Amino acid sequence: MKLDILAFGAHPDDVELGCAGTILKEVSLGKKVGIIDLTRGELGTRGSAEIRDEEAAAAAKILGVSVRENLNMRDGFFVNDEKHQIEIIKMIRKYQPEIVLCNAVDDRHIDHAKGSKLVSDACFLSGLMKIETESGGKFQKAWRPKVVYHYIQWKNIEPDFVVDITGFTEKKIEAILAYRSQFYDPNSNEPESPITSKNFFESLNYRSRDLGRLVGLEFAEGFTVERLLAVNSLADLR
Ligand SMILES: [Zn+2]
Repeated sequence: MKLDILAFGAHPDDVELGCAGTILKEVSLGKKVGIIDLTRGELGTRGSAEIRDEEAAAAAKILGVSVRENLNMRDGFFVNDEKHQIEIIKMIRKYQPEIVLCNAVDDRHIDHAKGSKLVSDACFLSGLMKIETESGGKFQKAWRPKVVYHYIQWKNIEPDFVVDITGFTEKKIEAILAYRSQFYDPNSNEPESPITSKNFFESLNYRSRDLGRLVGLEFAEGFTVERLLAVNSLADLR
């Protein structure tokens, strides 16, 4: 199945936190979107890998994505080496996306920057035809996505562009709250962590409101780029 957009996250919930609004919008515009989680988030302070599997499936339904896969890499300890790059290359060649979304280039959780570089490197390598891969016994054609965009998660990274997600914020929060074990819950008896605070939960909305404010929109999500972007016409910019 060919996809338009493939979004990668080091942990189930990274994609939702970083760019759920953008995914919801693109799906509503008829784009085919998929999500690849690198790990099952088994080191998360709250919940368990099994609970996270269920939560990720529920969130995928809310987002309306065509596919969600988990590469079962080791949470906290996966590395950016040939073995892991090949696993990502297989996904890129399998789904042939024009656009790849991946983790923030720098963040509080060390897996985010690591996953960001791993996916970005694999996007380049995936275009080299002499790197041969197979999927289900079938030879895979080389494929390089046209662009790689990095969403923003914990740290306040200054975006290179923003996407108008006005009209999609309620559903975005719904997708995030599908991860019931992970975020602010005054009735939970599990240990606290930075992402379980009320402040963090509220930051999801106030960040997108603030990014929107800066460009005259109600809500926006920001991304950073790896190279210059081009537009057909100045009128495409707003
Ligand atoms: Zn994460």
